[in-house]
Amino acid sequence: MALTLGLLLLSTPSARALPEQALVPGGIALLQLPEYKQGTEVFFKNRRIAVFPHDNTWYAMAGIGLSTKPGDYEFSIRRADGLSLNTKITVKYKKYDEQHLTIKNKRKVNPNKADSKRIAAESKRKKKAKKLFTETAPRVDFIWPVTGRISSIFGLRRFFNEQERRPHSGLDIAAPEGTPIKAAADGTVIDAGDFFFSGNMIYIDHGQGIVSLYAHLNKIDVKPGDVVKQGEIIGKVGQTGRVTGPHLHFAVIANQTLIDPVFMLPRNGNKDREIHRDTNENAQSKDDTQ
Ligand SMILES: [Zn+2]
Repeated sequence: MALTLGLLLLSTPSARALPEQALVPGGIALLQLPEYKQGTEVFFKNRRIAVFPHDNTWYAMAGIGLSTKPGDYEFSIRRADGLSLNTKITVKYKKYDEQHLTIKNKRKVNPNKADSKRIAAESKRKKKAKKLFTETAPRVDFIWPVTGRISSIFGLRRFFNEQERRPHSGLDIAAPEGTPIKAAADGTVIDAGDFFFSGNMIYIDHGQGIVSLYAHLNKIDVKPGDVVKQGEIIGKVGQTGRVTGPHLHFAVIANQTLIDPVFMLPRNGNKDREIHRDTNENAQSKDDTQ
């Protein structure tokens, strides 16, 4: 069948406000859609992904899960008129280092029975927020919610009190308790509350499966249903949940997948520290989190 979609894989998107492509576990795949037509839906690993215009060109953006094995993966582009096309990308290996943290509150590492019940209920809420897909035109032009030293990068293999737990699923930005936190982009608050590991946490929907998450807050200033503008203050930095000091745990979800937030953030938006996107060599963190 002759297809005329003329797809191009991007290697180095340079324009500001476009997420950065990184074809690694925890990274982002961008697909240019030069002949995009209204109604086209794009899927990655059978999940629908966000589609948005940038500089007169349409793009699809897929989050690549941290547990993704190196290899080839397909995008599926389905047009409203029934025409469909698959195109593949190759995900490369990326090394993620270990991080060892000591948590004083032992229950935050080995929860008791009542805690476990609470954690299970919260896990349902988290899944619901992660799975949300709204038809709202997505916002991917993120800003730094807080600036400060990066105390822990994404993807580190975590050992709490020498017990292995899930890898770090976000970016930790150290800031004094009470520092105002900005919404990374326009969106709608989909959940907000106190969670066992994450402490006070907010989820914001930015459309088509793009969700941002802010954890360990001292104070939450928004509630579910609130529409927020980029830069609007949504809460204050704190040290609630499983932490060793005040910081913001900032995470980003795309197609139900947690991705490294640095690929969504402007390179020069945090003057206190240069971000190392290509290596994880600079993870020397002491403070941390979930
Ligand atoms: Zn964290």
